[in-house]
Formats: sequence, C-alpha cells, structure tokens
Amino acid sequence: MAWDFSTEPEFEKKLEWMREFVREEVLPLEVLEADEATFTRIVRSLQDEVKKQGMWAAHLPPDLGGQGWGQVKLGLMHEIDGMSPWAPQVFGNQAPDSGNSEVLAMFGTPEQKERWLHPLLDGRIRSAFSMTEPMHAGADPVNMSTTAVLDGDEWVINGHKWFTSNGMIADVLLVMAVTDPDASPYERASMFLVPADTPGVRRLRNIPTMAGGHERFGQGHSEVKYEDVRIPRENLVGRRGRAFEIAQARLGPGRIHHCMRWLGQARRAFDMLCERALQREAFGGPLASKQTVQNWIADSAAEMQAARLLTLHAAWVIDQQGAAAARREISLIKFYGAKVLHDVIDRAIQVHGSWGYASDLPLEEMYRHARAARIYDGPDEVHRQSVARSVLRDYRRPDGWLPREHVPTRRDAARAKFAQLLEEATANL
Ligand SMILES: Cc1cc2nc3c(=O)[nH]c(=O)nc-3n(C[C@H](O)[C@H](O)[C@H](O)COP(=O)(O)OP(=O)(O)OC[C@H]3O[C@@H](n4cnc5c(N)ncnc54)[C@H](O)[C@@H]3O)c2cc1C
Repeated sequence: MAWDFSTEPEFEKKLEWMREFVREEVLPLEVLEADEATFTRIVRSLQDEVKKQGMWAAHLPPDLGGQGWGQVKLGLMHEIDGMSPWAPQVFGNQAPDSGNSEVLAMFGTPEQKERWLHPLLDGRIRSAFSMTEPMHAGADPVNMSTTAVLDGDEWVINGHKWFTSNGMIADVLLVMAVTDPDASPYERASMFLVPADTPGVRRLRNIPTMAGGHERFGQGHSEVKYEDVRIPRENLVGRRGRAFEIAQARLGPGRIHHCMRWLGQARRAFDMLCERALQREAFGGPLASKQTVQNWIADSAAEMQAARLLTLHAAWVIDQQGAAAARREISLIKFYGAKVLHDVIDRAIQVHGSWGYASDLPLEEMYRHARAARIYDGPDEVHRQSVARSVLRDYRRPDGWLPREHVPTRRDAARAKFAQLLEEATANL
C-alpha cells in the first residue's frame, strides 16, 4: 500500500536551495527602488541562476525545457514561490504566462510553439489571457458576447474584455470568442492567439484595483476592446469550439499552483504573527501568553496544514488520473485555500495592531492581494456550488419521508432482523 507524506531526499535538496535563494535573493526585490531596466537586469541575473540549477519553467514537459516533475513536486515548489510576488517571475512560472505556455504546449501547432511558446519560455515576450467581459458574469462565461467570424482565410474578432491580466504589456493575447453561436453552451467558443500589435486591438487602461502600487512596470488587469481585429486562420488554438476544454486544462493545474503559492504567503504572515506574539508585551506578559493569540496561532497552524494536505492531494490526483478527474478536489482547495490565506493574514495584521495596518510592514499589501483570491479563477461561491453538486451526485433521495437514520424505524428493523435470536434469548430466561 502506497501512502507516503515524505519528500524524496534529492528533491528536498532542491527545495532547500530554493527556500534559501528566495529568502536571500528574491525577497530584497520587493523593497528595491529601481527603474524598470535596472530591475529587469537584476531579475535576469537571478533567472540565469535558476536555469543553472535546472529549476526554470518547471511546469512544462522536458521537451520544452521544463522538468516534467508532475503536480505534487510543482506544488511544493510553488509553496516556496508564494513567499514573494516576484519569485514566480524569477522561476519562470508567473501567471498568466505559465498557464498560457501550458495551453500552447498542450494545444499549439508546431508553428504556434515556434512563434510564441519558445520566446515566452525564454522570457523574451509576455502574454495575457482574455476571457472575462464587463457585460456578462465571468463566473458563468458561457454567456460571453465576443465573436470571431471566419472571413476567407482570416478570423475577424469583435468584443470587449476586461481584467485581462498583464494585457497592457503583453505581446500576445489568448482570446476566447464565440465562433459557433448555435452549438451547445460549452462548444460555442474557440481560443485564438492575437498579437497585441494587430490593428483593432485597443488596450484602454489598467483598471485601478485594491492591489494598488504593487502593480509596477505596466502590470495590472486591463480593459481591452477588439474592433474588427483580423488574424490569420491558423491562429486558432486547438480545435474550433473547444475553448472551454482548453481553458479548463489551463485552470486545473493553475489553481493548484495558486493554492500552494497562497500557502507560502500565509506561512510568511504566520511567521510574522508568531514572532510578534513573542516580541510584544501587554498586560504583564508577551501577547503569546494570551489565550486568544494562542487560539489564532493554533487555528492558523491547523488551517494551513489542512489546506496544504488538501492541495497536495489534489495535485496527486492530477498526477495519477489527470486534471479532469480532480475537479472536485481542485474546487475544494480553491475556496478553502483562499479563505485560509485571508484569515491568517488578517490575524497577523491584528496581532501587529496599528503597525499591521501600516505600509511599514508587508501585511497590508498581502491582505489586499489576498482579497482577490476569492474572486479570480472562479469566485468562492461557484466552487462551493460545484463541490456540493459533485458530492450530491454520490447520494440518492431516501425513499418516503423519514430520514434513513430514524432511530425508532431502525429499532423496529433490528428487532425484526434478530427476532429469532431474541425469542430464543427470552425462552431461555
Ligand atoms: C486580480 C484578478 C485577475 C484576473 N485575471 C483575469 C485574466 O487574466 N483573464 C480573465 O479573463 N479574467 C480575469 N479575471 C476575472 C475573473 O476571472 C472574474 O472576475 C471572475 O471569473 C468572476 O467574474 P465577474 O467578475 O464577472 O463576477 P460575476 O460573474 O459578476 O460574479 C459576481 C459575484 O456573484 C456571485 N456568484 C456568481 N455565481 C454564483 C453562484 N453560482 N452562486 C452564488 N453566488 C454566485 C459571487 O459572489 C461573485 O463574486 C481576474 C480577476 C481578478 C480580480
């Protein structure tokens, strides 16, 4: 029977290196004041070091320069990545490029890989994923109204998208658009590669968000209009009508990586919580001696451990049976992990008092970013609904009106079942 929670010693060594590297080399980037060119130069030197260690773009298969390690190992790496918002970039797996490169790796033609995937992996170009629209519920994207119509050898795209992360700085946008309006809801849309400089691509703005100042160097969530955008026929990704299938393949493992990164972020807040509890004195002793603070520490430790095991289990199911088999597990961690992240940061802020609220510490920024986790990649409520539906499929409505566990009914049934033995016992009295 295989039931093992240990990490292979060889891989643990890599994780150890990564922890040290993120702590020593990446965390300082967060507070470095530098212009974009200088910052990029520093990041590139760190990326070179990651490449030397063979840990670059580890989400991709070996033939594309990745490691082919599978989701459990990737999950463990992302937990470390999550410590800093800059670590994913240094390790070549920052969203949305990592998910987009996975799409191209899985569904791209050799020409598409040559033109977009390889430069993306080298960090020479950037990408964005353009699905959500202002006029329709992103939680239920089957209703999108962006269209792509074939005109000779070109697709003509018209539509209005928003929250296209990194849309303003992307070189290529993966755009979802309706191509077959009369097909069944999940077969109406197709996926396209749209070079950002194509006439008709109007990148209007980065939408100001709670994330605020962190979104440096043009990063952010943009509003984009596609007005008679003409792209060659061969820019269709995968098969026509398969955009939802492709998006699902992109989002499944991506959500595991998000959840593991959240754990890395939660762990950082938790460390701050514990250190401050030991450091700060009030009412005759350290905050750590107060039961409420002890409860925060114990609850956070339990919740982080639960989220970690749930996430690694979801990763394991993907490794064993593929992303489609792990839908329930992925939805479970998406809403549970987002709540754990939020709650741990919230408690860390509380234990720091007014300082927790101040930008002298990273907690307030972490808190603002954490709030988005409950919305992107599907809001909490949709994942809860999906988990509940999936769980309920394992049940059937009990016959009649009594609950199946009704004790008087069960007692009558037990009496009937053992009637003979009960009679013999009474006769022998
Ligand atoms: C930081 C960030 C980055 C993003 N990046 C991208 C990106 O790169 N590309 C992209 O295409 N999109 C992106 N998005 C958009 C994101 O995917 C959508 O915001 C999300 O899918 C929700 O869609 P919506 O905003 O239209 O909310 P709506 O669909 O309007 O939902 C609003 C609220 O309704 C409630 N709700 C919805 N369905 C149910 C239900 N079944 N039961 C109960 N309540 C429900 C939920 O509380 C939900 O929050 C990003 C969003 C954020 C915040």
